[in-house]
Amino acid sequence: MTPLSGVILSEAKDLIVFSRDPSVATLLQDDEDCHFSTRAVKLIKMKIILKRSQCIGCGSCSALCPSYFKLDDDGLAVLKGAYNNNDEQVLEIKEHEVGCAKEAAEVCPVQIIKIQ
Ligand code: SF4
Repeated sequence: MTPLSGVILSEAKDLIVFSRDPSVATLLQDDEDCHFSTRAVKLIKMKIILKRSQCIGCGSCSALCPSYFKLDDDGLAVLKGAYNNNDEQVLEIKEHEVGCAKEAAEVCPVQIIKIQ
């Protein structure tokens, strides 16, 4: 068994336990009833990308995934916490943090949300 090298708290209330292999960790997840489960996760960095200039303001992403998306005062989607890269908004996340962003990308009628 690989010795542990450290622990951190992720942005959610999950606990990540790192191994000596920097690309793999064990994710200790707490459900609503304080029942913990573990699963191995790869700490792959991913990006959520929103091409805001092509948004039609339907609100599907913010309704389905309010933790990442909201409609701004101009009625167009905003990717919370993202930085601007030309006409795109980019949010860097870890693979296990993708969550509802994947569904938001699937339902966007103009397909301007990308996960990569
Ligand atoms: S689902 Fe797509 S078109 Fe609709 S608000 Fe979100 S980004 Fe804009």
